Amino acid sequence: MNNEKIKRYKISNPSSNRFLKITEDLYWARIPLPFRLDHVNVFAIKSIDGLVLIDTGINNEETKRSWDSILKNLPTKHEISKIIISHHHPDHIGLSKYLSEKLKVDVYTPKKELSRAKKIINLSDDEYGYLLSKSYKEFGFSENIIIKSKNRGNFYKGMIKELPKINDLQENFTIITKEGSWCARFDTGHSPSQLSLFDKERKLYLCFDFLLPRISPNISVGIEDNEFNILEEYYKYLNSISNDYTSDWIVIPGHEFPYYDPVKRAKNLIMHHNSRLNLILSKIKNTELTILDTMEILFDKVNNSHDIFFASCETKAHINYLLSANKIILDKSESVFKYLNNYRN
Ligand SMILES: [Zn+2]
Repeated sequence: MNNEKIKRYKISNPSSNRFLKITEDLYWARIPLPFRLDHVNVFAIKSIDGLVLIDTGINNEETKRSWDSILKNLPTKHEISKIIISHHHPDHIGLSKYLSEKLKVDVYTPKKELSRAKKIINLSDDEYGYLLSKSYKEFGFSENIIIKSKNRGNFYKGMIKELPKINDLQENFTIITKEGSWCARFDTGHSPSQLSLFDKERKLYLCFDFLLPRISPNISVGIEDNEFNILEEYYKYLNSISNDYTSDWIVIPGHEFPYYDPVKRAKNLIMHHNSRLNLILSKIKNTELTILDTMEILFDKVNNSHDIFFASCETKAHINYLLSANKIILDKSESVFKYLNNYRN
């Protein structure tokens, strides 16, 4: 793929009805999403053992229609051999049951992604509401928002409905094609162990959600595990990019469009999170802050329940980072958690 082609992809809208060829062995389509993210990219790799589909979209009628049309208009006569899922988020795993049954093929995803998916989808509406409202209470949200979160039900499950039987993807997973080989890597940050694929010879990196071209991938604590220092893990990933790749690599992401230079993008994302941490530290100098206070400092427009969920859980990820770096301390004396400057440091 040359520079001109990349420019063209930027402005043209890939189809939601058929695969577009990016390289001789890689195809790309775009499935619409009913929220601000707008769409998710799905792929097919023409391996020597058949066509491997990657990611699916959420489980709704529009996604089914898209896939029915994509499958009718496949660009190659190769049989579909398997479906692989990059990570457990609904826009990637959502339609895997429908597709695996329709195509009668097995589904694979990294082990930790599968266990997270099972853990969340198996929560009843009440259990989910309990966990979310417990977090929101600690975060300092109003009674109104806490009650709403309790009654919201398991909205993760709502976008997937049911999982098929899914197999663990092996650590050394590789897709061999006529043109090259796509090797797997597994990283923690946006999700617990996201799969991504790279071809060293051709300098192609299929990064899914970890290195999006314009938006910063959501780095959130999970509601069942909200003490985890997930941002530190994401920093590790971002720092590994300049060792593993060079500026002339092409990055093909799970949303938006392909671009050049993963090294530059990783550096920008490191700067983005550094500046957020510094902003929190500058405000926390003279006053105690709740997660809600901190969220309002970091995010401009947080209007609906969807935005509140992502913004507050991402804020908590930043607070956890500062806590474990001993930059701030937690005052647990009240039911609402407050964070303050650590003067000992
Ligand atoms: Zn994701």
